[in-house]
Amino acid sequence: MTEPDLFEVVNPATEEVITTVTLAGLAETDAAVARARAAFDTWRRVTPADRARLLRAFAAAVDADREHLAALEVANAGHTIGNARWEAGNARDVIEYYAAAPERLFGRQIPVAGGLDVTFQEPLGVVGVIVPWNFPMPIAAWALAPALAAGNTVIVKPAELTPLTALRLGELALAAGLPEGVLQILPGRGPVVGQRFVSHPDVRKVVFTGSTRVGKEIMAGCAAQVKPVTLELGGKSANVVFADADLAKAAATAPYAVFDNAGQDCCARSRILVEASAYDEFMALLEPAVRGVRVGDPADEKTEMGPLISAAHRARVASYVPDGSAVAFRGSAPDGPGFWYPPTVLAPVRHDDRAFTEEIFGPVVTVVPFRDEQDAVRIANATEYGLSGSVWTRDVGRALRVCRGVEAGNLSVNSHSSVRYSTPFGGFKQSGLGRELGPDALDAFTQTKNVFISTEE
Ligand code: NAP
Ligand code: MG
Repeated sequence: MTEPDLFEVVNPATEEVITTVTLAGLAETDAAVARARAAFDTWRRVTPADRARLLRAFAAAVDADREHLAALEVANAGHTIGNARWEAGNARDVIEYYAAAPERLFGRQIPVAGGLDVTFQEPLGVVGVIVPWNFPMPIAAWALAPALAAGNTVIVKPAELTPLTALRLGELALAAGLPEGVLQILPGRGPVVGQRFVSHPDVRKVVFTGSTRVGKEIMAGCAAQVKPVTLELGGKSANVVFADADLAKAAATAPYAVFDNAGQDCCARSRILVEASAYDEFMALLEPAVRGVRVGDPADEKTEMGPLISAAHRARVASYVPDGSAVAFRGSAPDGPGFWYPPTVLAPVRHDDRAFTEEIFGPVVTVVPFRDEQDAVRIANATEYGLSGSVWTRDVGRALRVCRGVEAGNLSVNSHSSVRYSTPFGGFKQSGLGRELGPDALDAFTQTKNVFISTEE
């Protein structure tokens, strides 16, 4: 008998140990895959109406547990209670939305000579989902809901740092009546459990959200078995503000577009691009907005930003703001225990400064001026990332031209919203591959089978 691999789960706002979780090793991972493989044979045959009913019951169980799930995320990830409630509600909404899918997984009937041609959208098999620590609930739900709806079975590996809400979602699924083995939550280390999803031949699809570096390794590993992957990776998104915009609103909302979740958001608008003629006015409006961000106890309803996830991550974020950096202004953060870092605005910055080119994944934003529309699009696209972005202008034609010009998967005009459960989400360039949410996600968990039936006598 080897000793169990125990992991202490820490509250990032207090540095206190909340609980201890046993991490799965290779043997447990292989056993989970075997259970998921066996469950697939029955789950795929559950009638569409019954699969829909079970998913609706799962969504109802999540709905009834929202306050509990939110409290777990406040304690485990340091998310503000307001955000954590939204995230639990989002998990419910996503499961409910895809509960409609089993009865609507239409194939096609294609006109051909000599018979009838029909297509079927068939499940892939066992799906392995690798989840990061920044949005543990939504990111797990975005994969497991459409995957289950399409008839796959699912194993979720939460991030080591944040397993608690995923474990709870697994309990709620069982309580709602999903058969054993259909959805399993398997805490473990990325290079052990996550890597086994890549190498195990019975895992037929991997969904990975996390760093671009690990995402590339996953994709390369999956190539050996021609295993499909969905990748949601990093970002360095632009918030493009034109002089004709509602500058007061653009400045008031810009901090929340990057400091929300303490900047640990792949969609963070971490590069603010401002038309040169409005730059000074915008900065004057931005300063009070940044100083006004309420940073502190994430359980307090008034708090707008909590701590970073870990001491190591805080050190990494701080490395982007070495002594002598051009800090234009910054907000506040509590002293004492907790992995706090204040909202920080860097300006002026050079376009080759690593704070302007790399994903920081913390509450640090850079601001640069641009000359005109073309210049704005050029700067926005001068990155290997392409996840999201915002455009602020009152000129509708320009808004559309810039949205079409920016190489990113999720753009918003006079708004910073990237995510709705009913619309597709995903990255261009090195921000990812494939689309989650909306009608598109089902494509990622099905494959098309074509059947020809001869009508000849
Ligand atoms: P990461 O290392 O890419 O981890 C993401 C997930 O992948 C975790 O569950 C991790 O497990 C797992 N993993 C790690 N190495 C693996 C491997 N070799 N094979 C299979 N799975 C593996 O990301 P991170 O360390 O948490 O964060 C680092 C940076 O990634 C961030 O600072 C940010 O730039 C970016 N990031 C982006 C997103 C996003 O939403 N796009 C989310 C998180 C992070 P463990 O928990 O055991 O490490
Ligand atoms: Mg890592």
